[in-house]
Amino acid sequence: MPEGAMNHFVQTLGGRRAVRTFPELEAFRSWMSYGMLHATAVISIIAALGAAGGLWVLPDLHLWLTIALGFLSVGLNMLVTRRPETMRHTVPIYIVGLATVLLSADMLVLADEMRFAWHFPALGAAFVIGGIPGGLFILVTAILSLAAATFSLSAMSVAGFVTYCVTLSTMSILIVIIEMRFIWTLEQLHKSRLILSDLANTDPLTGLGNRLAFEEKLKALSDEGTAFGIILCDLDHFKRINDTHGHAVGDEVLRNVAAVLTGSIQPDDIVARIGGEEFCMLLSDVCLETALRRTEAIRREIQGNPVITAGQAIHCTASFGITHTSSNASLDPSQMLIAADRALYEAKAEGRNRLRIAA
Ligand code: GH3
Ligand code: MG
Ligand code: MG
Repeated sequence: MPEGAMNHFVQTLGGRRAVRTFPELEAFRSWMSYGMLHATAVISIIAALGAAGGLWVLPDLHLWLTIALGFLSVGLNMLVTRRPETMRHTVPIYIVGLATVLLSADMLVLADEMRFAWHFPALGAAFVIGGIPGGLFILVTAILSLAAATFSLSAMSVAGFVTYCVTLSTMSILIVIIEMRFIWTLEQLHKSRLILSDLANTDPLTGLGNRLAFEEKLKALSDEGTAFGIILCDLDHFKRINDTHGHAVGDEVLRNVAAVLTGSIQPDDIVARIGGEEFCMLLSDVCLETALRRTEAIRREIQGNPVITAGQAIHCTASFGITHTSSNASLDPSQMLIAADRALYEAKAEGRNRLRIAA
């Protein structure tokens, strides 16, 4: 079996393993489980009401087991609604309850010769919400139950029993094939979503985060309440570089600055390109002094790292505006950004290639 197909088989097989690694599959199984629990509760209530109203006759034990399954479904439904993480325990409980009621129907509801047909919807439900383990459990218990009905109650001929076994097994194979294909499709969608969200957050020229990524990180930091600094960086007289050396060289300078900035941040920080030749860094969990020291080091490194093209060194400098939560505690993130922009403007006005802190 090819590796990809094997993975899908394993994911179909191991509902739990897949749930941990693959949120779309978890959502699918949750949705199906809610549906099956509701459906079982409704069918149990109808069965009990019908028996109470004299529409059909159900032996006492089977009636009580049916009512118990209805209550179990309602209870499990309430549990997984409040605590979705309990789904992995509730599904096996539900499947065992289902198998018990099917067995009691086969063995007790003798007046209904079509009672064995309930194994078909039960099989589908078990495969969809419990994966291959749940489905196989219902298949095996169905065959045992049908065998007991055939050989101890003579409820059907051996040929009829074999037909049930073959049709239930065929249905199981079909469901597994459809489910594997469906999981494969979900997995492709999951991968596409990751790629698209990566693209939506990335600046294609430099590979840095873009404005969207920056705004998300800024919001996350301010929600966390950790101390952080915003450092706006704008290249000085960048237009001249483009005008003198061409746009391609300008692009190379942008990539070079991006590499300097990336090399100077810590794992929890972010650097993003938020405009043409404007970058922004969010330094998390640092004090103002550290933010200043690191920004000064970056300023020197940009100044001292020219792009070499056609044997020529293209020098570039940058100006910086800085805000920090410690000195701007009353400001929200967007106001902090405006303050950093103002500080950057001052750095430009005072001669460029320097940093300024927002008052
Ligand atoms: P200042 O020191 O005042 O910031 O001057 P500046 O020339 O850097 O600023 P200005 O806003 O006048 O010019 C920015 C230039 O950046 C203009 C634009 O052509 C260039 N630019 C914007 N995006 C890109 C890009 O992706 N690649 C290249 N090569 N240039 C870009
Ligand atoms: Mg600019
Ligand atoms: Mg500029």
